[in-house]
Amino acid sequence: MISFYPGPSRVHSKAPQYFKEAYQSGILSINHRSDEFAKLYKDTVAQIRQKLKVPTSYRVLFTSSATENWEILAQSLTEKASVHIYSGAFGEKWFNYAKHIHRGCKNFIFQPNEVLDLKSFKLPASPEMICLTHNETSNGTALSKRILKELRVKYSSSLICVDATSSLGGIKLDFKLADAWYASVQKCLGLPAGMGLLICSPKLVGAASKIGESGRYNSFNFMAMNSEKWQTPFTPNVSNIYMLKRVLEDSDPIDKVEKKIFERYEGWVKVFKKTKKFSLFIENDLARSKTVIAVQGKKQDITKLKKDARKNNFLLGSGYGELKSTTFRIANFPALKDREVSGLQKFFLNNYS
Ligand SMILES: *Cc1c(COP(=O)(O)O)cnc(C)c1O
Repeated sequence: MISFYPGPSRVHSKAPQYFKEAYQSGILSINHRSDEFAKLYKDTVAQIRQKLKVPTSYRVLFTSSATENWEILAQSLTEKASVHIYSGAFGEKWFNYAKHIHRGCKNFIFQPNEVLDLKSFKLPASPEMICLTHNETSNGTALSKRILKELRVKYSSSLICVDATSSLGGIKLDFKLADAWYASVQKCLGLPAGMGLLICSPKLVGAASKIGESGRYNSFNFMAMNSEKWQTPFTPNVSNIYMLKRVLEDSDPIDKVEKKIFERYEGWVKVFKKTKKFSLFIENDLARSKTVIAVQGKKQDITKLKKDARKNNFLLGSGYGELKSTTFRIANFPALKDREVSGLQKFFLNNYS
């Protein structure tokens, strides 16, 4: 079965080989206070910087998930309240976790088919932290570079934090436009679940130290202090760190990966202009995600389609949250192979157009 689920998603086909390498070389059993681990951490970060074009001044922390990053940003980097701007379920979840810690957090909601326009909101003058979902996996939308730039210029003193869980590794991100970027590895990075990345600007590291929150196993300052010695507070997911390093070593630079993702995306747009019972959920192409394609249709048609697809060895992603039965989703992630993508596209064209 080929998984087109947008997370957990198709794992790189070389993952078993990388895992075996890690086992045979003894990496799976190394101590996380050892020099071997420090080297692995350092080499992995070097790959992240080189392949994903992360600035050298930005620090990379290993966490357990994107969800943990929501909590870390709320507990360790917010003194009073964060501002959350979103159009879908993941942005909302982040807001809810943050609100649990700081009652004054505020949310600003825009419609999935709408391009985020700051003029339509009355944001506070200079919020402590602005929280954005770069790629909203639940409804298949994404933020443009333009809006990220606008926010960076207009809110230069705020911390800008971006959930890039389903775009990091597939889309070229301009890291300088925000202070925290994070993801978990089972989406666009094509690895087994169980690890998150938190990529932080020097400004974010400085802000955390000024706030001084400490005492938790995942207090940002504690994690940052450990990372200075290429260590982690707790025994980390060494197998995933190793596989991430290997995937990146074997992968093209992000510009080239992004080009492939864009080409495949254009292919999907063409397919869903031809299908009769199904159409793109996001009509506005300026608001549409390139890495998660959300498609709408009648509930009974989608149920039949998913069954049909399964018979042909394709696993489609269900809709998410309130869109569960009226949409389905297709991952457009780098670990998918050309022939798998064209196979599913042909399946749609042959049976549904
Ligand atoms: C999947 C996802 C998450 C949650 O990831 P976990 O690894 O389960 O914590 C958060 N944000 C977005 C945008 C996601 O797609």
